Amino acid sequence: MTKRPEKGRGLFYHRDSEAHSELAPPQYVEWARGEAARLGVSFSGTPEAITAMIARGQPADGDLYLDYGVSGNLLSRPGFDQFRERAASDPSVSHLFVSKRDRLGRPDNPLDSMLIEYQLRSAGLTIVLMGGKVLPAVGPGERIELADLLTSLIEYNESGKFRRDLAEKLIHAKIRLARGGFSIGGEPLYGFRRWLCAEDGTRKRQLEDHERVKLPGHHVLWLPTATEELAVVRRILDLIEATPAARVARILNAEGIPSPKAGHVRTRNGVKFETSGQWTQNTVRNIATHPLLIAVWEYGKRSEGDQLRFTKDGPRALGRGDYSPDGKLKTVANPADQIIRTPAKSDAVTTPEKFELVREVIAARGRHLKGKARTRGQSPNPLGGRIYDLTCGWLMYRYAKRGKWCYGCGLYQNSEARCCRHNTVQGETATRFVLDCLRQLVLTPSRLAKLKTRLGELADAERGDDPAQRQLDAVRTDLAGLRRKVQKAAENMALSETREERAAVAEVFLRLKDQESALERRLATHRPAPSRVDPQRQVEAALGALDRLAESLGAGAADWAAVGSAFARTNANLYLRFSEVVKGRKTFNVPAGGVVTFGSAAPPGPLYTGPTDRPIIRKMLAAGEPVTASPGRVTPGDSNAGQDVTGSANVQRGTRRCS
Ligand SMILES: [Zn+2]
Repeated sequence: MTKRPEKGRGLFYHRDSEAHSELAPPQYVEWARGEAARLGVSFSGTPEAITAMIARGQPADGDLYLDYGVSGNLLSRPGFDQFRERAASDPSVSHLFVSKRDRLGRPDNPLDSMLIEYQLRSAGLTIVLMGGKVLPAVGPGERIELADLLTSLIEYNESGKFRRDLAEKLIHAKIRLARGGFSIGGEPLYGFRRWLCAEDGTRKRQLEDHERVKLPGHHVLWLPTATEELAVVRRILDLIEATPAARVARILNAEGIPSPKAGHVRTRNGVKFETSGQWTQNTVRNIATHPLLIAVWEYGKRSEGDQLRFTKDGPRALGRGDYSPDGKLKTVANPADQIIRTPAKSDAVTTPEKFELVREVIAARGRHLKGKARTRGQSPNPLGGRIYDLTCGWLMYRYAKRGKWCYGCGLYQNSEARCCRHNTVQGETATRFVLDCLRQLVLTPSRLAKLKTRLGELADAERGDDPAQRQLDAVRTDLAGLRRKVQKAAENMALSETREERAAVAEVFLRLKDQESALERRLATHRPAPSRVDPQRQVEAALGALDRLAESLGAGAADWAAVGSAFARTNANLYLRFSEVVKGRKTFNVPAGGVVTFGSAAPPGPLYTGPTDRPIIRKMLAAGEPVTASPGRVTPGDSNAGQDVTGSANVQRGTRRCS
């Protein structure tokens, strides 16, 4: 444990999830100053300093640490992380001033915050809470009192429960507001302003941005009262029928019309940033299709929240569907029957007919893209994951082009054309090439002979495993033994001296004869199963299938899935080299050679194995990290090392500022 002075330095931490009251934090700092003086601990924080931190969105300043507008169920927060870091590493710190335990956290699991508190205390720090409560440091080998542990558990449980209870109350309040056609929060639609109104919709007054008013019997309505903005909304509605939303956005940007979010500051995790202020396709679309334009509210289209989620019937607990595969919470879109629709207490901006037309036009434009997987389903992709650009070692990605499909260098695509080249190949051409290679490989006489031998071996092995055959063999063995016994019985019968003896032996003899004929019947009726593997026929079938695949390709009726599965079974891979060809003023990068491998054959050059995600590639390029196959990745002694020299030479020549 760090040896700390008894009366060293004090640090102050405060968290406010809603960022509501700017007056409270300075008061808490004032309290901490008083406590520090009383305890004889030095402390440099001032109320003015924390006010400045709030204004600047600053998480740390001197002995002050702050998370303003950061939720308490997050265990990691900018101010809190720095506070813990300083408390642990600065040996002069002896006291921590925190107004209440729930400022340290409102954990979903109380044990999380208990552990953090215990770590601080066992690092020799004393936590001073408001109301004269002190959580003393825990010395080496010292144990925390059971009562103390229980209080801690109960308090963190309560502080977490507070969030759940609050979430529940808020959702019920939102449902009540939604049923009345009132705003349930958020910023108003472009062209609309927030108005404080009575239950019957009578206007009291317009509210300032973000202004909160609690007036009994009054709620917030969004009313179309921003005249200039409404003129833009009407223009969008007129334009959008014949002009794509993206172009409408460009027109508005070109005219310098401020977008709905222009000048707005957003806060995420306590960090403020200004929104771009530009119109986008989505801003235009969202405005043009918002139901408030025809005086209808739609609530609960999406569900978010980390405690409970909004449904039209009330709050619901979080379920598996609310988490992404990596365990993070996600916003989910709700089915249409879960949405609350209410007539709004505002005037319509357009007619239902025009609104319906706009929604239809926008839906029709998005139809060819919406909900379609890029390369799955019916889209042919027989070489998916099996075709490489040897220039950079990247896989080539399938893309559609004027009804056809091509494979293009994945690095060129994901580096946004900054690396490698526009190396492309027609999908059908490449596929036919690989399929021809496969047929040639199989048709080579020596290969064909080998293939037949192998299939013959397989057939024998399989026959040996035939259960019917095994049974038949057993019957034959039994019958042979039985015949020996019958023979013996006949001999005994001849040797019998008395009539009784002969009768007894005859009985045995007859019984054995019955059994013998039963086994013989079984043998006679047993049809040996035809051998399941006839080498000759198997080879013919395989070649026939290959021929049919090739034919279907030629006839333009290709079964791409079948071709793909033939490639998968033979582990076919195509590696391409490219060269530039000048046609007129244009330069094309066309395949200049390549290698096809089957089975476990090694690739002819180094392949790229790093991350491929576009944002990651962007970051790696910015950091000057290599994004192509590097020759250094091939370890000495690798069977591939000889070829690697030529491979790396290619990488050097063909790669622009990216290796
Ligand atoms: Zn490439």
